[in-house]
Amino acid sequence: MDEHAILWPYERGEVGDFYYARYGHPTIDAAEAALGALDGGTALLFPSGTGAATALALSLLKPGDTIALAAGAYFGTGKLFEALEPWGLRHVEFDQTGPPPEDVQLVWLEAPSNPMLTMPDLVAAAAHPAPVLVDSTVATPVGLRPLEHGADFVLHSVTKYLGGHDDVLLGAVVCRDPEAAEALRAFRSRTGISPAAEPARLLLRSLRTLEVRVHRQVESAAFIAERLAGHPKVETVRYPGLGSLISFDVADAEAVRRVETSTRLVVNATSLGSVTSLLEGRFRWEGDRVPSGLLRLSVGLEDPEEIWADLAQALGNA
Ligand code: PLP
Repeated sequence: MDEHAILWPYERGEVGDFYYARYGHPTIDAAEAALGALDGGTALLFPSGTGAATALALSLLKPGDTIALAAGAYFGTGKLFEALEPWGLRHVEFDQTGPPPEDVQLVWLEAPSNPMLTMPDLVAAAAHPAPVLVDSTVATPVGLRPLEHGADFVLHSVTKYLGGHDDVLLGAVVCRDPEAAEALRAFRSRTGISPAAEPARLLLRSLRTLEVRVHRQVESAAFIAERLAGHPKVETVRYPGLGSLISFDVADAEAVRRVETSTRLVVNATSLGSVTSLLEGRFRWEGDRVPSGLLRLSVGLEDPEEIWADLAQALGNA
């Protein structure tokens, strides 16, 4: 068998640990063990963050159940739950800085939320009878370990900081309870929402630098947030000090367009968590959910003075 094979021969007629990649793969196992250790739970990988969210919601809930979703959380998560409505799943939005509503079967938080950057009240959520999931994509395990704060599940878009290099599309759920992890693993194999080995190999590579990358990105983001707050064209700066995601407002959608088209170092693209600084106006995707002048900035690993010089010249056109 070649090293990329997705099946492994039986040994003297006996099925071994690995036999068919939809059920398990040594590289996936290794990446899951490494991520699980970082978050203090049992990690399972999925083909994307959204795939991880789909698998968790469908495996945990049944028709008629309701998810309490943090308002201002990643736009795609609400869109996913809308797409699942024909299967009887409902969702309601709530302010995650306070307690979740009653009579819901799953609480879905985001730490911090993308792009409004609110932080969840983890104590209030842990007191709720329903299982609690924290999408900790922006905080990463370097900034927050939600399982230690009473969460049952952590979700990561590995595509972002964990992958970090814009070359991995992958997601993960980390479970506090090993039995819940086994149930989710069985659901993953049955439904075929299984990850490929190559992205898992890239995750293992990226985890080796995660801590240094995140520390440096957070330090640079604090510096940039302070500079933005003092700039005359900038109205509001949101930066909770966790992760390197910042959002800030300029006058309107036209000002957004002028800023995002005049950066030179900072790349005008979607996504976040990359070694490359990324900037985009979110109104184009999210409409009235966000201010029309909102720009989302993910601070990368470039020299912070150079990032600021580029932003300052771009803001000159706002
Ligand atoms: N959660 C958050 C906070 C995100 O920002 C994203 C992607 O933008 C996702 C989940 C979805 O991840 P993916 O793009 O890997 O499906």
